[in-house]
Amino acid sequence: MTQMIINGKQVDAVNKATLDVWSPTDGTVFTTIPRGQEADVDLAVTAARQALNGAWGKLTAMDRGRLLTRLSESILEHKEELAQLESKDTGKPLSTSRVDITVLARYFEFYGGAADKVHGETIPFQTDYAVQVIREPLGVTAHIIPWNYPAQMFGRSVAPALAMGNASVVKPAEDACLSIVRVAELALEVGFPPGALNVVTGLGEEAGASLSKHHDINFVTFTGSNEVGVLIQQAAALNAVKCVLELGGKSAHIVFNDANFKLAIPAIVKGIVHNTGQTCTAGSRLLVQEDIYSDFVSELALEFSKVRAGTPEMDLTCGPVVNKAQFDRVNRYIKKGLADGLKVVAEGSIADGVPKGGYFVKPTLFSSPNHDSDLLTQEIFGPVLVALPFKDEADAIRLSNATDYGLLGAVWTENGGRQQRVARGMKCGQVYINGFGAGGGVELPFGGVKKSGHGREKGFVALEEMSTTKTIVQYYGE
Ligand code: ADP
Repeated sequence: MTQMIINGKQVDAVNKATLDVWSPTDGTVFTTIPRGQEADVDLAVTAARQALNGAWGKLTAMDRGRLLTRLSESILEHKEELAQLESKDTGKPLSTSRVDITVLARYFEFYGGAADKVHGETIPFQTDYAVQVIREPLGVTAHIIPWNYPAQMFGRSVAPALAMGNASVVKPAEDACLSIVRVAELALEVGFPPGALNVVTGLGEEAGASLSKHHDINFVTFTGSNEVGVLIQQAAALNAVKCVLELGGKSAHIVFNDANFKLAIPAIVKGIVHNTGQTCTAGSRLLVQEDIYSDFVSELALEFSKVRAGTPEMDLTCGPVVNKAQFDRVNRYIKKGLADGLKVVAEGSIADGVPKGGYFVKPTLFSSPNHDSDLLTQEIFGPVLVALPFKDEADAIRLSNATDYGLLGAVWTENGGRQQRVARGMKCGQVYINGFGAGGGVELPFGGVKKSGHGREKGFVALEEMSTTKTIVQYYGE
């Protein structure tokens, strides 16, 4: 039985309610979590406010940075324990979880180092005036986290908020929250004052909705589905607080006829099957120039058919998808692809011996004659890639932009001018040239355009998003 972290203590829900947690690997219940609701959210927000007015708010930027750095070190010391929890909760292959925990530690390392390097400015103004622009925390920040990369998303969202001196309340996903609760416990162990970091577990429509509309939060950040993102933005609007949204994508690879196949093929396969396709930045559309289409797709099919799904301990390329709803959704899209006349050109396999009740889906590579199918515009969130041919540069850019989303893109060509033209023509927040980074490193600004959301995370820009400026105007004449 897991507990929440509120005001520096491990607690149950006020009304003692709990939720079952299901294993994606075998479909059984393996633990319970508190079903936090409005009263629990209220306690957490109050604790965060008190922390801002108390010990946490009084720390220097240097000391905050040191705490974040210590937490990063503690995460690495507990790497195996956290990776096991993450795999149990999400079904990820163990080596994927180990990488995710390393990235989580890296977030706290990066933002720990950055905490005391955010400077203000002075502005020349009228005679005998001094003007300073200083950066201040926003206050209580609310973080609603998805289940696909619980540990990484927690680090991405919370580390810059804490570095800037905010106090945070986190609502992890009901499907996968165990690693996040454990990291909040580690934060207390390394010396974070009570209330600086609170975690309320529970359902989205209960704890999540209560948090996003709480009258005493100053900021809300959300990563997840488009439908819920719109609800979060509505709640933020009614509360007059700022929100940052990251709402998924339908990212395209564009492969020109001069592309380096050896570089492109493994990256394209990994870009869709990593994390069993449950990645906002998955490269889920493949646009290939028509004169190499059949050669390229045939070579890709060979690589794609090597993909295998298994349990975390088997440690293959993919795990199961996270839950029954996701399992049904991916299979529904595969059926829809067949009904739309798309051709299956390769399939991965599910390893022998996986438990019967597990949510394993067959990785599938489709070829499509045109851009008409829903599989080319809607986010599937599973290991399903659709390839289609294009004629020329203009056609490629047009097709890549033919979705409501705009998160990532990739262009594969040796032609330097074309690399720049296409990268600038793609309507999205990050573009890779001859590579694919699924959101990239901790240092790189990240976020979407169009229906993929707004606001930026990662890198130094996150420190700006999670703080505000104050302009101090001083007359010093006599
Ligand atoms: P998915 O549909 O992929 O499960 P969601 O967007 O529903 O993703 O979930 C992402 C996060 O948003 C989770 O932490 C979930 O609990 C939370 N959530 C879901 N519904 C709401 C809501 N109405 N208000 C606030 N948070 C929500």
